[in-house]
Amino acid sequence: MGDGIFETVKAVAGRPFALTRHLDRLTRSARGLGLPDPDLDEVRRACAAVLEANPVPLGRLRLTYTGGHGPLGSDRGDKGPTLVVALGETVRRPDTTAVVTVPWTRNERGALTGLKTTSYAENVVALARAHEHGATEALFGNTVGALCEGTGSNVFVVLDGEIHTPPLHSGCLAGITRRLVAEWTGAKETDLPLDVLREADEIFLTSTLRDVQAVHRVDDRELSAAPGPVTAKAMRIFDERSAADIDP
Ligand code: PLP
Repeated sequence: MGDGIFETVKAVAGRPFALTRHLDRLTRSARGLGLPDPDLDEVRRACAAVLEANPVPLGRLRLTYTGGHGPLGSDRGDKGPTLVVALGETVRRPDTTAVVTVPWTRNERGALTGLKTTSYAENVVALARAHEHGATEALFGNTVGALCEGTGSNVFVVLDGEIHTPPLHSGCLAGITRRLVAEWTGAKETDLPLDVLREADEIFLTSTLRDVQAVHRVDDRELSAAPGPVTAKAMRIFDERSAADIDP
């Protein structure tokens, strides 16, 4: 019934990146949906087994944890949730991409705000719109007209040489890449109007699979040099710092 949660974890040369942070978020999402806490030892074992059985240079582990178990039904039953771990191969993202804004809003105060649930249908529709316009991401504003996030990424803007990203109260997901990039570059959390996308000197996205990715077009606005100098530096810092395994 949509009461599921998920995580996408990058696996480099068979090693999951920042797994502990993903498992913390999985637990937070489970609690937010009223699902029992996942057994994190079981999740770690499942990830290790899938990675060992499918060696790929760059992979995406997909952890799905859903309410309900066994025969089809509309209640959660008494057997607890179901965990599925799957692995797909992926490739390093291009350095730049185009994005679109969507004309509907993200609810920054909804019951599911900030949870990584499998109820992403709105994001899927927004992403399809992006694809129709030759873009790979769609950006949402929230109900008060503030910049929020993408369908599967967080957004950063550069204004007068400083890096800013919307705060969590904008309704965005607590992205793991967002947190690392903010820590490593000194980016500030700032309430930003959606219109900032028209004037920002540089714009970039962050996510597990995009890492840091420069935006070269927003709707019909072309950004002259993408990646710009501040974004290029953020990309470099991220590549260097994340090459070390940050998982404790
Ligand atoms: N925002 C949304 C809605 C997401 O689904 C994701 C990740 O898939 C992100 C942001 C980026 O988060 P992370 O850096 O943890 O991948």
